Amino acid sequence: MLLFGTKGYLHQLAILTLICGQCGNPSAHTLTKRVTKFTLFFVPLFAFSTKYATQCTFCGAEQQLTEEQADRLLAGGTERDGGQGTGRPAQSDPHRH
Ligand SMILES: [Zn+2]
Repeated sequence: MLLFGTKGYLHQLAILTLICGQCGNPSAHTLTKRVTKFTLFFVPLFAFSTKYATQCTFCGAEQQLTEEQADRLLAGGTERDGGQGTGRPAQSDPHRH
């Protein structure tokens, strides 16, 4: 008899200051990564689903992200001028072009 199933893991990757699409506040958002792994006899074998999301700590709104969007937030959100907090989400900038 085979015992197989799935197991979910939740990782908090970063806390970013973003303007919330729901409440419009420049508030802290948690960036989380949810990995679902295939398990056999309760041993996790491989990940078959990885999802990213941000959650507004102000209103609790959650937004799904692609891996690319999450990477971009991680790359641009934490390194440059730490305290300035432009709050600009990594999306198309209407002031350019
Ligand atoms: Zn919000």
